[in-house]
Amino acid sequence: MKIGVLALQGAFAEHLVMLRKLGVETAEIRLPKQLDDLDGLIIPGGESTTMGKLMVDFDLLEPLREFGLAHAIWGTCAGAILLSKDAHREQPLLGLMDITVERNAFGRQLDSFQAALDVSKLEQAADTREPFHAVFIRAPIIESVNGDAKVLVSLPDGRIVAAQQGKLLATSFHPELTGDTRFHEYFLSLV
Ligand code: GLN
Repeated sequence: MKIGVLALQGAFAEHLVMLRKLGVETAEIRLPKQLDDLDGLIIPGGESTTMGKLMVDFDLLEPLREFGLAHAIWGTCAGAILLSKDAHREQPLLGLMDITVERNAFGRQLDSFQAALDVSKLEQAADTREPFHAVFIRAPIIESVNGDAKVLVSLPDGRIVAAQQGKLLATSFHPELTGDTRFHEYFLSLV
């Protein structure tokens, strides 16, 4: 199994470390042709406007859309925004997941926080009884989940922070910053 991590901008190195910990072959992705031999792709956190602009500059927008029609893609934070259909702003999006997001919904960098999440829906992951300590950094909220997309994880107040649509996964938070590999394992089960 070979998993790529989009390496245009943002927290891609941390995802590569997590994947290697799980014994997976990895690749840093910057060019369309590098998608050819991948089984799945992670779009990391960072700045969705910057990453979207670079996707346009590197001619990656269409190839990524095509890749996502047949393969697993996981977007964390800015990556989740890029997977969405609507982020209420003019910015390049892949539009692969039938979700709408609100960017920076929890406030500014200083309002970043951690929360213990109920992850009992990640059935295939190793052990879902322990809560998942999630890191939110200027994170988006998944405002609505439509069509074939479903809610995977919510905060205790009901706000949606993880959604899935077939092999596509979106999380508002950063599992690559915690050392807890359960979300990465779950993604590999989708691949
Ligand atoms: N605030 C960023 C955005 O809107 C996302 C932040 C992150 O990926 N940690 O794109």
